Amino acid sequence: MYNYDIAIVGGGPAGLSAAYTAAKAGAKVILFERDKSVGQFVRTSGVSWICEMKKLEIPEKLYNPIKNYRFVSHKNEITIKGSEYRSCVLDVRSLYQYLSFLAAKAGADISINSNVVDVLSSKNNNRISGLIVNTPKGKTEVRTRLVIDASGFNSFVGRKLGYVSTWKRYGVGAEFECYCDQADPETWTLMVGSNYSPAGYAWLFPLSSNRVRIGVGIGKPESLIDPLKVLNNIIENKFKPLAELGIIQPIEYHYGYIPNQGARNCSVFEGLILVGDSAGQSNPLVLEGIRHAIEFGRLAGQIGSASLSSYCSKNSLMDYEHEWKKQLSSRIESALRVQSRWIGLTDDEWDREISILRDMSVDEFIDFISSEFSPRKMIKLALNHPKLVARQLFNLIIKK
Ligand SMILES: Cc1cc2nc3c(=O)[nH]c(=O)nc-3n(C[C@H](O)[C@H](O)[C@H](O)COP(=O)(O)OP(=O)(O)OC[C@H]3O[C@@H](n4cnc5c(N)ncnc54)[C@H](O)[C@@H]3O)c2cc1C
Repeated sequence: MYNYDIAIVGGGPAGLSAAYTAAKAGAKVILFERDKSVGQFVRTSGVSWICEMKKLEIPEKLYNPIKNYRFVSHKNEITIKGSEYRSCVLDVRSLYQYLSFLAAKAGADISINSNVVDVLSSKNNNRISGLIVNTPKGKTEVRTRLVIDASGFNSFVGRKLGYVSTWKRYGVGAEFECYCDQADPETWTLMVGSNYSPAGYAWLFPLSSNRVRIGVGIGKPESLIDPLKVLNNIIENKFKPLAELGIIQPIEYHYGYIPNQGARNCSVFEGLILVGDSAGQSNPLVLEGIRHAIEFGRLAGQIGSASLSSYCSKNSLMDYEHEWKKQLSSRIESALRVQSRWIGLTDDEWDREISILRDMSVDEFIDFISSEFSPRKMIKLALNHPKLVARQLFNLIIKK
């Protein structure tokens, strides 16, 4: 009756990771990716954290290590220097292809160039029972017991079934991957203030001393401006610190959307799991979601395959919902409060705000920027930084 136990929509980090663990657990799995190859279009700038990559067993050759963190505003500039490599810039395409190899080796079928265009649901209880997919071999119907919606910002299946709606608050980013004469390969830079983004920030993320990603992210609905326009202006005028790079020659263009609204109210339904951006699992403070997509993708695959014996009922999938929300929900809420402060700052306020970051130790900074906000850590942070302006910022996190 079923072609597959589990069908996965989307071959980003969440879908590929779900395919890997589900197939490893013995389920018959297919993943559909509408692009012509895994990682064909990069929709992310790929900053992450080395300890998280190690936990997820991502090989070191797939990222450029970073130890210094620079912030540039209208009239201020700070650098937090570390003695160890704690952050990294991912080779996104190679990472996603590595994740696809793990899934394929575990036995998952991966169908590229395959756009999921509709869902099948049973008439009596409106439960999802399959997908309609445009594949290179033609339009196909796939019957399945469980669907994992890993379609990213799109939340294609969840929206099709009316379980979730389009994100109202989101970020849009435009980025060029560029040749440059000289970049510091150990330092990433965030640029803040109206020159760089009317509601967000710009970035300079190095992959090597000659290769950088330069991008702009803009929050919606706060600003209607297209980030590409702002990005071109920054590059043309070589706003600080771009003049330091010498020749800047874009060689690749990236564009993407990221939800910026917190977690979906619910990410499991009868026969359906939402994961990654589809479920709202990214950190809204610095628009960071790859590690969560991999971690909770793997969890979705494990719990999804275990639920096959229970008809993939919503009840049998609840452990997934509880686990990821236990780990992420309060951090996402705190990050949203900091973000709403940051989105409203004027240039002068940004000049002052980045001085708060300058006073932080590397450990404090990394906990803060990666939203590792445990109450104990944040109380310590507030005690270590008693100035009023710093307290106001940290209180936003501690506040329940
Ligand atoms: C500008 C920008 C910068 C970012 N920077 C960072 C960063 O520095 N660090 C970080 O960790 N995160 C960053 N993120 C966030 C990160 O990219 C996402 O959180 C992450 O990619 C989510 O993974 P995912 O698998 O859920 O979705 P995606 O990576 O979006 O993958 C979804 C996949 O589903 C496919 N798909 C969609 N609909 C269908 C369909 N109907 N049929 C078949 N396939 C379909 C898409 O083609 C895509 O390949 C950034 C995001 C943006 C937009």
